[in-house]
Amino acid sequence: MTNKIAEIALAIPKRQAFDYQIPDEMVGKLLPGMRVKVPYGHGEKIGIVVNTKAQSQWPVEKLKPILSSLDEAPLFSKTMLELLCWATAYYCHPIGDVLLTAIPAKLRKGEPDSRPTERLWRVADGICLDSLEKLRKAPKQQALLQLLMDGPVSETELLRQFNKPVLRALHKQDLLICEESISKADHSWTKSLKVASRPFASTEQALAISAINSTQGFQPFLIEGVTGSGKTEVYLQTIENQLQQQRQVIVLVPEISLTPQTLSRFEERFAIDIGVWHSGLSDNERLAVWQKARDGEVGIIIGTRSAVFLPLKWPGMIVVDEEHDSSFKQQDGFRYHARDLAIMRAKQLDIPLVLGSATPSLETLNNALTSRYRHLHLREKVVKGSKVNQQLLDIREQHLDAGLSPYLIERINLHLRQQQQVMIFINRRGYSPALMCSDCGYVDSCKHCDKPYTWHKSTQQLHCHHCGSVKKRQPGCQSCGSNNVNASGVGTEQLEEALSRLFPNYQVARVDSDSMSGKRSLNETLEAINQRKYQILVGTQILAKGHHFAHLSMVAILDVDAALYSADFRATEQLAQLITQVAGRTGRAGSEGEMWLQSCHPDNGLLLDLLHNGYGHFARTTLKERQAAQLPPFEFQILLKSESISLSDSQQFLLHVAKMFHMEQSLNEPALKVIGPFPSLMEKRQGRFRMQLLLSHLQRLPLHRALNKHLSALESLATKHKVRWSIDVDPTDF
Ligand code: ADP
Ligand code: ZN
Ligand code: ZN
Repeated sequence: MTNKIAEIALAIPKRQAFDYQIPDEMVGKLLPGMRVKVPYGHGEKIGIVVNTKAQSQWPVEKLKPILSSLDEAPLFSKTMLELLCWATAYYCHPIGDVLLTAIPAKLRKGEPDSRPTERLWRVADGICLDSLEKLRKAPKQQALLQLLMDGPVSETELLRQFNKPVLRALHKQDLLICEESISKADHSWTKSLKVASRPFASTEQALAISAINSTQGFQPFLIEGVTGSGKTEVYLQTIENQLQQQRQVIVLVPEISLTPQTLSRFEERFAIDIGVWHSGLSDNERLAVWQKARDGEVGIIIGTRSAVFLPLKWPGMIVVDEEHDSSFKQQDGFRYHARDLAIMRAKQLDIPLVLGSATPSLETLNNALTSRYRHLHLREKVVKGSKVNQQLLDIREQHLDAGLSPYLIERINLHLRQQQQVMIFINRRGYSPALMCSDCGYVDSCKHCDKPYTWHKSTQQLHCHHCGSVKKRQPGCQSCGSNNVNASGVGTEQLEEALSRLFPNYQVARVDSDSMSGKRSLNETLEAINQRKYQILVGTQILAKGHHFAHLSMVAILDVDAALYSADFRATEQLAQLITQVAGRTGRAGSEGEMWLQSCHPDNGLLLDLLHNGYGHFARTTLKERQAAQLPPFEFQILLKSESISLSDSQQFLLHVAKMFHMEQSLNEPALKVIGPFPSLMEKRQGRFRMQLLLSHLQRLPLHRALNKHLSALESLATKHKVRWSIDVDPTDF
């Protein structure tokens, strides 16, 4: 029986694919992974063929026929389509959204998957030296023909040396042939791989490199190594091995614009075209990189989260740098984790996968400790830097000036006088996180989110950092009219101002997403810092990532306490990662560097463990605690979220859902845990009330089985309650 029915994934919030009739002329030609245009409702939609089949659960005559096919070949390889279908089921997300997320916007909109072509000239068949000889009297024509006898040349290239009439004359004599061809890079990377000199690997590096290079097939590795221990060098040398075998490598990184140095290291090592993939690209650029990756024209692609979906002609290896970074998890729409998908993809492709971090996530560490991943250690710093002395600074009963304790100010002064740089880290942009009236206590808050506005003094504006709304500051208190309205709490702007006041003879650089717009600006600032044009650096997370500052001898984190007592069980893990990362910014050759953590809880056990024994020890202790408390990675979680402009709608929906799963628990699945509904940590955002319900289980399978069983009931319940809802599998954000 021939397959006359196609399952089509459409970009609509429905979980399943739709059956359509395949018109006779397309039968046999329409393949899974091709785009089609289909009638839907009163209009047309672009969809992707998931499957073709002989029979449908619906009578064939009821099915609408496909209108047209947009591709001659599938956009997805068989394995990619399998991966995406797996992700659809795993993350319980509508298939159309998953498939369409994985292709560039232009293809999503139905534009052709064509590559720009150009005219390529070559000599006609049977042309020999005789023909050349005959052109004695036309030296220009002779020279052109001679050039082409070495191989085809593009018209653009030819017209740089010869004019049109010469070309036309030869063409008329049937000596030349012109062909339309896809413009490809002048030389493909496989032929032109030149490797700049590489350092001699240390013993630990050599062990890691040979372990990775000698694997056959699927094998995940965790490289656990402090900053500066040479992880990137291990990536470079194992990537070189892949390139030499003509295989391609995807390198996932948290954020390219924040770590321009990583890209330049790759470019310096390999003199080939490197594909770059991130949110700053135009639609055209994205399509071009996607096509080059698919057609095997780039050997390396460095990209953020969604680069995990890039098609590869010759897949060789996937690297995930800073694998613990939270940006690998998409927090809305299709909530996938790029690291986890990378593992699945490597498994399917049967290739090695390298995860690297100085501060591995507890999930990954657990997999390494239980031998699911091979665990490689880089214990030594390659370039022997100084030790960083990490200490807690008790700020109880201290008078703080813009968050700075008197002793910290003293230390800053000391380092500056010794011609060194200091860095002060604070995780809050703006001047202050709130403005408060000292007479009546009124705090101006965003009415969509019920959270105080952040005061940005430089622009004289109030910003809501949760929904992005902005308003101009009005003079006086909005409640009592008093003029006694003051900044409450400290942000980067205020810290910058205070440090400039305290140390008028030194230059302060502020690095946060407000002061740094675009890659160039950050690059320039980093450059200026390394040239010692600034002595004091103030910044947020941006400063903590990947940059190395050679003249930095002291770093401080102003406030670590919020994370210690957070409702989010991952907060301490993230704090430890941050502290370790920030500490890694210093480390000059020679004398010791120092790091200060201001805290009102200087005897906190976790902090002391981290400072005395390092992240590795801290992480292993924390893993044991998670195991005892039955939390991830020892427990699996799925979060059901609902939001609505009415708090009670949002709540009622989840109360019904909870009832459903309590029933499931008592009838079939006693080990299923149902917690909630409870409000999200951000209870109100953009005018919508957000509630959630947590399902968890010590085993993944029964948890997913329970959810799938009730999925369609959930869908109709949500429609009835008119709430927006979503499913977050392996949630990291509550
Ligand atoms: P990581 O990625 O772990 O932070 P890198 O690979 O960036 O470490 O190495 C830190 C520094 O040491 C870099 O400047 C790098 O060029 C250099 N380096 C790495 N490996 C070696 C080596 N085997 N010999 C000499 N220098 C090295
Ligand atoms: Zn007031
Ligand atoms: Zn808001």
